[in-house]
Amino acid sequence: MSQTKHNFGAGPCILPPVVLEGSAEAVRELDGSGLSLLEISHRSPAFSAVIFETEKLVRELLQVPDTYSVLFLQGGASMQFAMIPMNFLGSEQTAYYLDGGYFGKKAISEAKVTGQVKVVDKADALIPKEAAYFHITSNNTIEGTQLPVFPVTLAPLVCDMSSDIFSRPVDITQFDLVYAGAQKNMGPAGMTLVIARNSFLDSIRNKVHAILDYRVYREHGSMYNTPPVFAIYAAMLNLRWLKSRGGVKFTQLENRAKAQLLYDEIDRNPLFYGLAKKEERSVMNVTFKMHDAGKEKDFLAFCEQRGIVGIAGYRTVGGFRASLYNALPYESVQALVKGMQDYGNN
Ligand code: PMP
Repeated sequence: MSQTKHNFGAGPCILPPVVLEGSAEAVRELDGSGLSLLEISHRSPAFSAVIFETEKLVRELLQVPDTYSVLFLQGGASMQFAMIPMNFLGSEQTAYYLDGGYFGKKAISEAKVTGQVKVVDKADALIPKEAAYFHITSNNTIEGTQLPVFPVTLAPLVCDMSSDIFSRPVDITQFDLVYAGAQKNMGPAGMTLVIARNSFLDSIRNKVHAILDYRVYREHGSMYNTPPVFAIYAAMLNLRWLKSRGGVKFTQLENRAKAQLLYDEIDRNPLFYGLAKKEERSVMNVTFKMHDAGKEKDFLAFCEQRGIVGIAGYRTVGGFRASLYNALPYESVQALVKGMQDYGNN
């Protein structure tokens, strides 16, 4: 495998070598079938086994109860910004949205296309029980902030977990619908995971095109149309890998250790400062800048020479963002910290 870089990319991002190897192998030939993974029918027994195992792993790793459906969709997390109000926001209702950051804002603007929206700026805001739902983002990928705990509300709770799903244990029963684009802690882009309480899906009253109706995906076992076969296969391998390492409890400990190492250096090193308030700091996406902004380009080039890539901050934020997803080894964070120290001593 040719992973020779410390890849801090925010998504698509680093994947475990075993996932890349297994995916490459399946593209050559799927389990001795004489066919490539890319050539097989999504209705074949071979692929049925893949989608079955992937769902089973999602259920096991996140302890998803039987009263929830696990669905595989396409269109990225961005399509969920549209599908959620299309399905759940009735014409007489109001949906509440937490404005946590860039992607929360995108979700808000899509919901406004469908109906009435109220925006709140605190996760613990009081949400009336008649609300269509309360939409939150668990981890703000661009800003580098994360909700340490989730709100308790009488209204249905909907959460965009794109950038921290499978990074820590969560209590799925707190939510009515959780969604995540795959391209961080699951696999390649192309698949979107939706976990939804069945009674919430049963409550849909809006008329929606079949391809945008959650109930259609439930009814057809995510095979109303051709699912993203390759992306689901790679996600299955990644979830197998996560399980073999001890699941989300283990990965949370490792992720915390990686984040602590980097935040400690940011706080200690006089050249750098962190962007997020300490109590809001994300374990997944660490955002920071240099006091002397004029040196930032040079530091990026310095890192690049050491094989440290993907740390440029989002274009509207600037500075740096180091993403520490599950597959990023602790040693890569050590390499970045060493780079920050050596740069200072240059
Ligand atoms: N929400 C969050 C929290 C994200 O990080 C992203 C993408 N990085 C999105 C939504 C949009 O995802 P997609 O590109 O899959 O539509």
